[in-house]
Amino acid sequence: MIITDVKTTLVKVPYGRPPGFRPSWLPGVIQESYSFTIVQIFTDEGITGIAGTTCFGDEAKVFVDREIRPILLNKELESTSGIEGIWGEIRSKADGKPMISMLLSGAGEGNTIDWGGIVKSVLRSPWNTLSLFSSKNILLEDRPWFVNVALWDLIGKKENRPVCDLIGRKKDKIKVYASTGEIVSSKTVEFAMKCLDEGFKTIKLRAHHADPDKDLDVIKKVKDAVGGEMEIGVDANQAWTVLPPFWSRKRALEVAKSLDRMGIAWFEEPVGGKDFKMIAEIADAVEMPIMGGELQHGIETLEKLLDAYDIVNPDISMSCGISDGIKIAEMARKRDKLFTPHAWQLGPGIAANLQVACVLENCPMLEYPYDPNWSVEQRDLLLEESLIVENGYLEVPKKPGLGVEINESIIEKYTVV
Ligand SMILES: [Mg+2]
Repeated sequence: MIITDVKTTLVKVPYGRPPGFRPSWLPGVIQESYSFTIVQIFTDEGITGIAGTTCFGDEAKVFVDREIRPILLNKELESTSGIEGIWGEIRSKADGKPMISMLLSGAGEGNTIDWGGIVKSVLRSPWNTLSLFSSKNILLEDRPWFVNVALWDLIGKKENRPVCDLIGRKKDKIKVYASTGEIVSSKTVEFAMKCLDEGFKTIKLRAHHADPDKDLDVIKKVKDAVGGEMEIGVDANQAWTVLPPFWSRKRALEVAKSLDRMGIAWFEEPVGGKDFKMIAEIADAVEMPIMGGELQHGIETLEKLLDAYDIVNPDISMSCGISDGIKIAEMARKRDKLFTPHAWQLGPGIAANLQVACVLENCPMLEYPYDPNWSVEQRDLLLEESLIVENGYLEVPKKPGLGVEINESIIEKYTVV
């Protein structure tokens, strides 16, 4: 099978509920749409490998078009063992060239990030700051990991098997946690009860107020409302050092201790992602597991994180790809640690994380974006069929490759470049 063409497409898919979505990890920013890059790898056998990833603007598209497409063109690929060779070449080419630098330098033909919109959103924020990309802990380096996912999709389709079967399926379905994306509010208790009614066993809440007591107050109310019937995870997104508020180390430790006393199931990103010492200190101070790793990239960094976090959550599409993802999960298993993939993504990104989650012994759950202000229908608009949860579990699709088909007309409708 010879690779004959590689096409990348940047789409912006509307969140669908005006005025937009307020991500906890970008306080003060209101997003009207979700930016996502799709890669399609075409072959002489008529099989096409597809994958996609979250992005800011056209950084992933520009990077793949310029650096990766020339490597892939005319390459022969017959089986999963062939992926490693091609991927090694891509990895060496990509090293030291973060995709985000392409974006910041405006290298693209059509640099489509909406800087004006972001600045306006920031000015509306209570901190009135323009500290975008100023923090020392910034972790927006990126790599074309989703291209690795598309190569696995290609082989799965060629062999007519789901990707999880190419690696070694351990389960047919995985428990998912309802992952909210907006900061906790007076409506959070009602939404948590709705999730419980729908069969979710676990929910994740977002804590990112400048005064964490406001977060703790809502989290306590949710805990009281759901009792022992649903586990609660809390994500502070403090490794997202793009916009304040940033908690001090002392405050992060106090919040961790409060959550631990409350019986919270895990606490995610209490401090900056490269603050390994403090992550480990917090993890030692509480019984509750500390989780992180979604913003780090590559085996070397993620291996260091395994010494700090109790649970790592790299995203297969965004942080490591499938080839390296299964290696990192094995490193975690040997250290008796868990690997629960981040999957705050549009449909194709969730599908990649789902395939990997179903092959890992040390993966008890998967993230499932589910927020009152973002419907599953909008989230999975790029797919022919939505990824629907049943009684708190998500089943791995029966179709080959990633098991999902993308809706070409929707992609065409929302294509930016
Ligand atoms: Mg997170």
